Amino acid sequence: MYLYNSATHKKEEFQTHTPNRVEMYTCGPTVYHFAHIGNLRSYIMEDVLEKFLRYEGYDVNRVMNITDVGHLASDADTGEDKMLKGAKRENKSVMDIAKFYTDAFFDDCAKLNIKTPDVVQPATGLIDEFIRVVSALLDKGYAYVAGGNVYFDTSTLGRYYVFNDHDEEDLAVGVREGVEEDQNKRNKNDFVLWFTKSKFEDQALKWNSPWGVGYPGWHIECSCISMKFNGEYLDLHCGGVDNAFPHHTNEIAQSEAYLGHPWCAQWFHVHHLNTNSGKMSKSKGEFLTVSLLEEKGYDPLAYRFFCLQSHYRKGLVFSWENLDNAAGAYSKLIKRVAALKDGDGEVDREAAVQLKEKFLTQVGNDLNTSMGVTCLYDVLKAPVNDATKRAVLADFDRVLSLSLLDKAAELREKEAAQAKTASASGGFTIQGEGDPAIDALVLRRSEAKKAKNFAEADRIRDELKARGVEVTDVPGGAVWKRV
Ligand code: AMP
Ligand code: ZN
Repeated sequence: MYLYNSATHKKEEFQTHTPNRVEMYTCGPTVYHFAHIGNLRSYIMEDVLEKFLRYEGYDVNRVMNITDVGHLASDADTGEDKMLKGAKRENKSVMDIAKFYTDAFFDDCAKLNIKTPDVVQPATGLIDEFIRVVSALLDKGYAYVAGGNVYFDTSTLGRYYVFNDHDEEDLAVGVREGVEEDQNKRNKNDFVLWFTKSKFEDQALKWNSPWGVGYPGWHIECSCISMKFNGEYLDLHCGGVDNAFPHHTNEIAQSEAYLGHPWCAQWFHVHHLNTNSGKMSKSKGEFLTVSLLEEKGYDPLAYRFFCLQSHYRKGLVFSWENLDNAAGAYSKLIKRVAALKDGDGEVDREAAVQLKEKFLTQVGNDLNTSMGVTCLYDVLKAPVNDATKRAVLADFDRVLSLSLLDKAAELREKEAAQAKTASASGGFTIQGEGDPAIDALVLRRSEAKKAKNFAEADRIRDELKARGVEVTDVPGGAVWKRV
């Protein structure tokens, strides 16, 4: 496949260090609150990428951390310990908070058909490893101790900054507005590997270390977790675009200094989900969750469909209207899949291969998921039998994970059950769009008419009209549709 590499700023042919094997790392969530649907946009796109690589035949080893040790809002030791903030808010221990929100994160992922990575490692489970790597960086002369903390010395590197999609000067810690420079640092981009002296006297979790009781810096967990479970050569590192600097820059600095050779060749950054008032952000406190979408009656997979319709390298604006459009298109797609006949002949292998080739080229062009979705409609329109269509849709869904065939089967069952209920109520058949509340109103209207209560029948018709539903009487029943 061709993939944009934010380290080189080019779309490149995807390469791996070991043939057919992808070592993939994803920055995981900070578990002090629910993931918002912006975070989940990143995880959806990374999930499609992983599945596409598997679909192409790669053996993928995907590793993810869980940030459960309170990390600070910046390298400058300002901001707040997010985990402690969560614990105080809910009057629970930090570890209870971490457990609760880790479980909640994976529940949300399951609802969005996001596969759990092969390795999931909470940061608190690997503290000894972080201490070992920090000690090695000190031994090799890449780090220094100052004011009780261990810092990475960026002046020891030939090249520090790689993601120059951003302006280095603007993003450098020392010059960020409102961020006070840490006087212990020798260079403005130096960053903490281990804290013992933080402005946070009440840091919740602390461990013994050769430098005193303290806790790891912001970036070391990802380097260590990846080097432990992916090995010395990482093929693909993923995260939201806000992770690029300084988090990923600093991960590269530490890992390459420790290993003594280049570490990760390809960097994949997902752009943000924004609202009209800006980036959706956990720390702002007000954000949308999967549960909220469900409460409002949306299928979480309609949100996945919404994300797939746009390219991961473009900001995506969330609005209820945009989500409604995606949800409408998703349910129409499911209806079309449900209308395909079972047992409609043999699968046309040749046609299936042709359709698949197009899908591979389209999605393989920098993970163009919206073209992947278009390929689904191409299959539905293709001059092939329904058996072939069903087989090809199921195949593409290994990557897109929209549960197309399962949802279609559910819809058929629901419609069959409704038809049964309807015929049970006096042989009256209702054909509609699969909404039991509307079916019930349509049935009541027919009963009112039967009882010659025309005023009530008209009232129900008006009520349906107000809900945007049009009813047509047909022999033996009624047909309704949304207009
Ligand atoms: P966090 O739990 O804050 O560490 O973030 C988890 C992941 O979500 C990281 O990869 C972030 O870069 C990413 N992320 C944060 N905010 C957004 C957003 N508004 N849209 C897309 N991804 C985001
Ligand atoms: Zn990370």
